[in-house]
Amino acid sequence: MGNFQLNRRQMLATSAVGGAAMFWSQRVSAADDLNKLSFVVVSDTHLGRKNNQSSEKQWRAAIAEINKQPGQFVLHLGDVVDSGREEQYPIYVETRKALNKPIHEIPGNHDPNDLFQKYVTKQTDRFVDYGGVRFILFDNAHRDSHDGFITSEQIDWLKTQCADATLKKLKIVMCCHVPIHSNKNPDRGWYVKPSNGQKAFYELQQRYADRILACLHGHFHNGIRGWRDHGNMVEVLCPSVCYNQNRGLKDRIADGKATGFFVDELRPGYVLAELGEGYLKLRYKPLGKAQTGEYEADWR
Ligand SMILES: [Zn+2]
Repeated sequence: MGNFQLNRRQMLATSAVGGAAMFWSQRVSAADDLNKLSFVVVSDTHLGRKNNQSSEKQWRAAIAEINKQPGQFVLHLGDVVDSGREEQYPIYVETRKALNKPIHEIPGNHDPNDLFQKYVTKQTDRFVDYGGVRFILFDNAHRDSHDGFITSEQIDWLKTQCADATLKKLKIVMCCHVPIHSNKNPDRGWYVKPSNGQKAFYELQQRYADRILACLHGHFHNGIRGWRDHGNMVEVLCPSVCYNQNRGLKDRIADGKATGFFVDELRPGYVLAELGEGYLKLRYKPLGKAQTGEYEADWR
């Protein structure tokens, strides 16, 4: 945004293709009672990719920027290293020390579970509470598949988390590497298939529809791309710090050949997120460049 103000409808029209539909969503209590909470979302750093240091350099540049950005904490949505390269984990652990905010990571399909637990965090399924929000982080990625998997034990654990968050009057944001939402070309077609936990997850989501605000993912290297067709919950894929690919989403959504929303920006970057009274704002920050597009979900 420059030095001028657009109203929300204009902003949606300019910044997020397919985003207008959210404008007519019903007013619900979700997020209405939140004080402003800002945080940063990074994903898919892929350290060691192509056996050179370029992804590490980008990650270091992101850290230097993030240190100057608003935000109480950072979420890393997986694929910390590329193709399970063990020698990259100590590099990651060293670089994250330079961050002046706490960071919470989940593994992606490039992160072998044992290595991730050894170097990054012992417990991959866990929660962190900030402001009035419980961020539930869980591992739904497998090394040998691009699809996502949520086990029945994880569903039970998620139920316990949702019940506890309800008791404590916390809103909920879910974080897992692989999207749960069904998708097909021009998207990648990788998601949690119905029998692999998708059905059970959406049943749970319906039960806590007024509490679960969003589901955040990495994995697709598609910039900011998502859907909002399971009640008011926002399901969104976040950009890679390393590389993003053009899949023609802007045109395909405009032509009615794909559903959901897409912020037309693909440069390597991260997301400046803000949750406030009745809204979730996701702003795209390309590395080394000015902030560009944004997506805003509104509950007001
Ligand atoms: Zn990735």
